[in-house]
Amino acid sequence: MLSNHMDIKRGIPVAPGVVIGPALVVDTEGYRIPQKFVDRKRREAEIERLGQALKSAAREVRATQEAINAKIGEKYGAIFAAHALLIEDPELVREIEELIRGKNHAAEYAVSRVMRRHAKALEGLDSGQFSARSADLFDIEKAILRNLLGSRSEPLQHLKHPVVVLAHDLSPSETATLDPQMVHAFATEAGGRTSHTAIMAGVLEIPAVVGLGRFLTDVSGGDEVIVDGNRGVLILNPDDETREHYEKVRKRFRSFEKKLVALRDLPAETKDRVRVVLMGNIEFPQEIKHCLERGADGVGLYRTEFLYLNRTTDPTEAEHVDAYLTVLRTLGPKPVVIRTLDLGADKFASAQGAWGVADERNPFLGLRSVRLCLRNLALFKTQMRAILRASAFGDVRIMFPMVSTLLELRQCKMILAEVKEDLEDEGIPFNRKLPVGTMIEVPSAALIADQLAREVSFFSIGTNDLIQYTLAADRTNEAVSSLYSPGDPAVLRLLEMVVRAGRDHNIEVSVCGEMSGEPMYTVLLIGLGLRQLSVTPHNIPEIKKIVRSVSVTEADKVAREAMEMETGRDVNNYLREITRRILPEVVG
Ligand code: PEP
Ligand code: MG
Repeated sequence: MLSNHMDIKRGIPVAPGVVIGPALVVDTEGYRIPQKFVDRKRREAEIERLGQALKSAAREVRATQEAINAKIGEKYGAIFAAHALLIEDPELVREIEELIRGKNHAAEYAVSRVMRRHAKALEGLDSGQFSARSADLFDIEKAILRNLLGSRSEPLQHLKHPVVVLAHDLSPSETATLDPQMVHAFATEAGGRTSHTAIMAGVLEIPAVVGLGRFLTDVSGGDEVIVDGNRGVLILNPDDETREHYEKVRKRFRSFEKKLVALRDLPAETKDRVRVVLMGNIEFPQEIKHCLERGADGVGLYRTEFLYLNRTTDPTEAEHVDAYLTVLRTLGPKPVVIRTLDLGADKFASAQGAWGVADERNPFLGLRSVRLCLRNLALFKTQMRAILRASAFGDVRIMFPMVSTLLELRQCKMILAEVKEDLEDEGIPFNRKLPVGTMIEVPSAALIADQLAREVSFFSIGTNDLIQYTLAADRTNEAVSSLYSPGDPAVLRLLEMVVRAGRDHNIEVSVCGEMSGEPMYTVLLIGLGLRQLSVTPHNIPEIKKIVRSVSVTEADKVAREAMEMETGRDVNNYLREITRRILPEVVG
């Protein structure tokens, strides 16, 4: 018997909300393994289909064995010989057939259940040798599924019933194309808090938990699961008590959200009447609606690389202008900070080939973002022209990402000046005083913030990257997620430095990384002197509530205390406690 025990997994919450629903498991090759049943009359045909798939899978695996024998030696080829033997193992085949005959399972569902049960049993054994064998079983499962599903594996976009997607990982573009009507939540084994997959979950407002570590062995398509995107919990096969508890949590969360909506028209002002500007981060023009619904003061970060989603050619100047004007039309007179392309690393890196980027060993340290634009001036200038043209129609500001040296910033400004001249010659209107800002997201930029401040009208601190570069901890890698902490003293010192440089040179400083949307850091950021935050739209009400619940005097004290602490853990515990006292509903 395959048992359905309740299993609780903990990961990183990246988009809030609680969802209870049937799982749709997507394996690492993108196969969906549905919980599918066949008609009693079709059972024998299904067993025949299984037999064919097993034969083809064994044939494929033997071919791989021969290729490996020839290439690196029979010792390695033997691994595949063992795979082929397993595929044909009469005991295994009998177990799968039993599920088809006895429980009317479709062949792929039966294969997946049996293989996962065996893999889990092996993983449970202490010996590393046995647990490594579970990886072999996954390989075998994939080989059989490939043959069973083949071209019938449908993309995630064509779902017919609401599901909770469970996957090893989803790329940012896969996530961006999920349909929130059908994908009610998702949970992944990989991923970090500020990976672009996580950011996309926030954008689409799909409750999500990432960085859960391995769990796909423990679940089959159709199993009931609970995703708690508030606390970063995934529950497989909940028992009745747990399901009831989460039904209540879900209702409570909805009513908390409704209360927050009431804040929309109140200013983000501290108890001692200091105004904090609260802006929204957007990726798509349609999201302006989300910002305005939540009372944003404008858009503090418009990530434009999403214009490159699902296409093989670069967007034209007209397409850029069109997107920017769509934003302005909805936003009215409020400001929008358009960030120039930040392509590369984990953002649509697949498109990079066309811009002369070789396969890089360290893409996060490579030719990404403004570095890539400076090597592809046509690309850069097209976007600058569009931003300038849009600036004739609203409060547009331009911002450069990933600046790491003063010269780089000057180069960007020089190109902008050239583009302005061209537009001038062509008689095309634009705002000659277009405010120019830079992101501070590389430690070198934070360290020379006083120099950079002389050259721009505003800073926006990109903590997502600043943290990863400061602590040398990949923002997408859950294995180092404990190092990746906004509360780390090294990060706090850099933040303080940037705020001071901004104050000394009288320019605006804002924070637009995910840290600014995390309620537990709001008091600290105000205490460090920040008066502008740009956050994922759904975080605006919560952050506003905290701003309105604290005074600058209190926040200053909290920041001073935090700056004295020795470790990120101490800082985080302290801030969590402070936030819990101010607003228990938020921290829980
Ligand atoms: C950041 O790095 O904090 C940031 C806002 O930019 P992105 O997340 O798009 O890299
Ligand atoms: Mg960044």
